[in-house]
Amino acid sequence: MATSFPKRLQYKTRFQQALLAWFAVHGRDLPWRRTSDPYHILVSEMMLQQTQVERVTPKYAEWLEKYPTLEALAEAELDEVKGTWKGLGYNVRPVRLHSIARETVAHYGGALPPSAAALRRFKGIGRYTAGAVASFAWRLDEPVLDTNVRRVLFRVFLGTGDPRASAVERYLWTVAARVLPRGHAWEFNSALMDFGATLCTARAPRCPACPMEAFCRVQRRQAR
Ligand code: SF4
Repeated sequence: MATSFPKRLQYKTRFQQALLAWFAVHGRDLPWRRTSDPYHILVSEMMLQQTQVERVTPKYAEWLEKYPTLEALAEAELDEVKGTWKGLGYNVRPVRLHSIARETVAHYGGALPPSAAALRRFKGIGRYTAGAVASFAWRLDEPVLDTNVRRVLFRVFLGTGDPRASAVERYLWTVAARVLPRGHAWEFNSALMDFGATLCTARAPRCPACPMEAFCRVQRRQAR
């Protein structure tokens, strides 16, 4: 990573424009994109950790039918909550959601505190989830870096090295923050996720159809 940020991010504006234009046409219509309720968005983000959208969608509806508010979730018995989660796997997640609900009701009047930094104080809310809730619910200019976003930013702005190395991870968080167009976090972060999930995929990126092809570092390295 010897190249400086200004050089690496020289295509930042083209990237932003291309990504937002792509999203306007190809963005996915997902149930949690039709709400700005931070609790509902938190539920979706917790469910989507290591679980496919197709499996999450019906469970998200069922969960919110049963626990429409943090208060309703806080009042429920943990065993019942775990039962509602059944089928999604990785079963620490309902336990954490339940604990977040009880803590929010006990200490924050039943409303999640509206900042990424405050959200990260809850056990079970990491940097990615805090950024996702803050940018999708309150439209704050907070970056996100999940598996899909990491892959896209790595390919477009780095193109070489080990994407799983912790130094690269830190670097990509900085890239994610610097490429975020101020005031457009909702669209931009949604677009990054969709782009990585459907076009710049792990195994079969569709480079010939990609609006980033002219400046994507992976592509430029292959063209040398
Ligand atoms: S050109 Fe290919 S590798 Fe680069 S961002 Fe587009 S799909 Fe991904």
